[in-house]
Amino acid sequence: MNCPYCGYQDSKVIDSRDINGGIRRRRECLGCSSRFTTYERLQPASLFVIKKDGRREEFSREKLLGGIRKACEKRPLPIGSVDKLAGDIEAGLYRLGKAEVPSAIIGDMVMAGLKGLDHIAYIRFASVYREFADITALKQAVDTLVSGEKSSQLPLLPTEQLEGLKNKRRRQK
Ligand SMILES: [Zn+2]
Repeated sequence: MNCPYCGYQDSKVIDSRDINGGIRRRRECLGCSSRFTTYERLQPASLFVIKKDGRREEFSREKLLGGIRKACEKRPLPIGSVDKLAGDIEAGLYRLGKAEVPSAIIGDMVMAGLKGLDHIAYIRFASVYREFADITALKQAVDTLVSGEKSSQLPLLPTEQLEGLKNKRRRQK
């Protein structure tokens, strides 16, 4: 790590601490005594993706993030949720502990994540990833999503409590 001020290649570490998934080090240049900070990301052994046609490609976080971003374009999502989803998927992949994973597994993880995040993004991603052959296949996916949503929207609280909550909200207004 060369000093950003003078370019000298030797520095001593004056402080180092763990920050989520990496290490931050404060360094002091042995040439000019300037202080600077380095971040080291802990990187597991490289991971390869087996594509549909059998070719291997090194896993790319950027590519994963790009695919999710594209699906989520202009959707009203909380800031950081796309990055978080990509990060969760990446962590999940490394947790599998395999050197190679089929691209289908990654696709499924993205689908599962988007399903919980935003249904329009989910359908967008699915239409590219699942390569819907026609509008019927697309409609089926939407129908499955909608019927799933209805069943998951059954009240989780007894009606009385729900009413109580509603009244409370009304009073707060
Ligand atoms: Zn220096």
